[in-house]
Amino acid sequence: MLIIDNLCKTYANGVVALNNISLQIPNGMFGLLGPNGAGKSSLMRTLATLQEADSGSVHLGNIDVLREKNAVKKQLGYLPQDFGLFPKETAWSLLNHFARLKGINKKSTRLARVEELLRRVNLWAVRKHKLGSYSGGMRQRFGIAQALLGNPQLLIVDEPTSGLDPQERNRFYNLLSEIGEQRIVILSTHIVEDVNDLCTNMAIIKNGTVVMAAKPQQIVAKVQGRVWQKSIDKQQLTAFEDSYHVISTRLLAGQTIIRIVTDTPPAQGFCEVTATLEDAYFYHLSQAA
Ligand code: ADP
Repeated sequence: MLIIDNLCKTYANGVVALNNISLQIPNGMFGLLGPNGAGKSSLMRTLATLQEADSGSVHLGNIDVLREKNAVKKQLGYLPQDFGLFPKETAWSLLNHFARLKGINKKSTRLARVEELLRRVNLWAVRKHKLGSYSGGMRQRFGIAQALLGNPQLLIVDEPTSGLDPQERNRFYNLLSEIGEQRIVILSTHIVEDVNDLCTNMAIIKNGTVVMAAKPQQIVAKVQGRVWQKSIDKQQLTAFEDSYHVISTRLLAGQTIIRIVTDTPPAQGFCEVTATLEDAYFYHLSQAA
């Protein structure tokens, strides 16, 4: 279990990135969902011991994460948002190099580990290709292989699916779910679908604050039965926004579809719809300060 207690961080420019964040994160996939600027990367970097918090505490089992950095690093795999690669290296040579840096000194052990990981992320067949020739999805899978080198208990993956095509994203999802079976995997994202499809537990954060933390189904349940939809003319949008709590608008075949949350049945023309995690996410975000 990873336990985060009242974590705070204000940057030198006065931006409050983490405002009393408390979370309890069990084994399995945990989704950290929030809009750009919510504080996700700041939280990830703090957990990965790459930046200091101002106050609060974080414990991974018996390890005091903010103080025992070396102990944490042994348990930690981190795939940052902007994972820089050496384009002229091959996957095999770079992973072998990282493994050496990790202290896997015995050659036969190291080679076996490199092979195991490249097979696991499905890059063994292309291990001799230069990383510069890899697609976005292949690069992310290579990133996961390097993050798994030390067999970490905690894997932190920051915005991993942006820029991946649907097929690559699917493959990446499958890989993460397998990995999440025996450890804590924290996935930060602004893509609701990522969390919906993958995570057993999640938190929504906004302006450095936890808006809600629960299982995705529980978060959806809070708005179930209260979401209604209507197709309107674009010009009517402001009027509807004045009368209803509009959580989302989207264009469909030239029409504007609005979804609202209401406790009492709205006027004619609305139809009740099954709430999705996206509805719940937009609703909770709009409720938060
Ligand atoms: P997210 O990952 O959810 O997009 P971030 O943690 O990157 O959010 O950013 C949270 C807030 O902190 C934003 O307002 C961002 O502009 C600000 N911020 C992030 N890093 C720094 C930094 N090094 N110095 C100053 N402000 C920062």
